[in-house]
Amino acid sequence: MLLLIAALGCPDAPKDAAPLGSEPGEAGRRKPGRPGKGGPRPPHGGPAAPLPADPATFTAGGSGGPNILWVTLDTVSAEHLAPWGGRVPLPTLEGLGAVRVKQAFSNFPETALSHWSMFTGVLPEVHGNVGAQGSSRYSGPSMAEIANARGYATGAFIGGMTLRDAWCGLSRGFDLYNDAMIPPREVQVGAPQVISAVNTWISAQKGPWFAFVHLFDAHVPYAPANGARFDGDYAGTLDGKEASLAPYRDHGAAIDPRDLAHVEALYDAEIAELDAALSPLFRQLHGDEIVIVTADHGESFAHDYLFNHRAVLWDDVLHVPLYVKAPGLKPQSVDGMLSLLDLAPTVVDLAGWGATAPFQGQSRVPLLRGLGGGATSFWARTDPWVPLLPGEPGARFAERTPTAKRIREADGSACAYDLAADPEELRGGCDIPGVDAAWEGYNAAITAMAPYQRAEGPTRVKDRLTPTELLEGLGYVDHAAKKE
Ligand SMILES: [Zn+2]
Repeated sequence: MLLLIAALGCPDAPKDAAPLGSEPGEAGRRKPGRPGKGGPRPPHGGPAAPLPADPATFTAGGSGGPNILWVTLDTVSAEHLAPWGGRVPLPTLEGLGAVRVKQAFSNFPETALSHWSMFTGVLPEVHGNVGAQGSSRYSGPSMAEIANARGYATGAFIGGMTLRDAWCGLSRGFDLYNDAMIPPREVQVGAPQVISAVNTWISAQKGPWFAFVHLFDAHVPYAPANGARFDGDYAGTLDGKEASLAPYRDHGAAIDPRDLAHVEALYDAEIAELDAALSPLFRQLHGDEIVIVTADHGESFAHDYLFNHRAVLWDDVLHVPLYVKAPGLKPQSVDGMLSLLDLAPTVVDLAGWGATAPFQGQSRVPLLRGLGGGATSFWARTDPWVPLLPGEPGARFAERTPTAKRIREADGSACAYDLAADPEELRGGCDIPGVDAAWEGYNAAITAMAPYQRAEGPTRVKDRLTPTELLEGLGYVDHAAKKE
């Protein structure tokens, strides 16, 4: 039963628990991924191997450079963290000696496309429905491909099933894409084991390396070792497991505020433990690496949208932590805004690579140096491919500036939020002018990337799948588990 509960919690399930959309990808024919470079997959109905970047779309700009450690803390919302005004202390991350970026935001509230976007510097939608396609349509390079072309050893160490290579094709450019630590029929492996693997790999490298570390601990289920850390006097019965949370997340059951506060405390305790787990990873650094620590998206505990993230564009879902450490950068906190779209060109700049690629983000090195130069706005989008049931809203779009946000619904209606006066985004003014210009600009930006998109192949998500159907298709649920 534990396996089933954990598994059901993993896909970024929408509110009614039925559509699983693009995040986990297609069910029914693919098996969990395997370690190793993204080579050919099993011939029996499996997806084709992800195509590498077209060499015509980038130049590596030379060879070698600083070692790079890139860590994502899946589902960690900045607003829960003490340096961002929340309650979770981060002694390990704060002790890293990095630049803390106070206003960093995700462009897409789901795992696979958020990672694709941060590793390529192009809008998530440019990649297409990676879950259905098995990989990205984008023919430009990922950071791993640029690093690989420069002679780096490239390794990825995956903690959660939503980044299994078979589901998203993110292995492009990685010599090693280790998603095999996740036990069969489970959805995640804890940070200590992932970090042990990456440390072993780093210590074996003789030349420059690029290591990607994906830590899934904060994602549902919220199961900290010390659940009483932030809520020691809770006398209720709710816990952070899938079975407890599903009625509120998926079926709209009314939750007692005291129970909600407890679940939020469990989430916070898990993030605190994740920070502590990072110590062995940082201890083996030499100080001359580039280190990125961020999250792919946050988590919602408000707006009648609980324990989830994939269908909304509120700041608790978009606002993510970001630490950047690099030679020559002075540890400080900077307030300018950026989106994860800017990370790839920023790291290329920090590394002095001189690499070129069709980035849609831009380098924020001046911001990291405390010289200003933050973004004046960015765009975010929810999954435009997920099939909908009657009455469900379609994909949302948002444009955010440092002080305001406009959210456009699929029917064209829109609301604006003054984030200074209304930081919780509870009092939107609707029927506003101007948002269509942002929407048109966004669509023009997608269209402009057509030269860098491969033809859309056959997709495999044909119908909405229940979580159980999805997991059955992937081989995660056996008959014994189904009976429970
Ligand atoms: Zn995620």
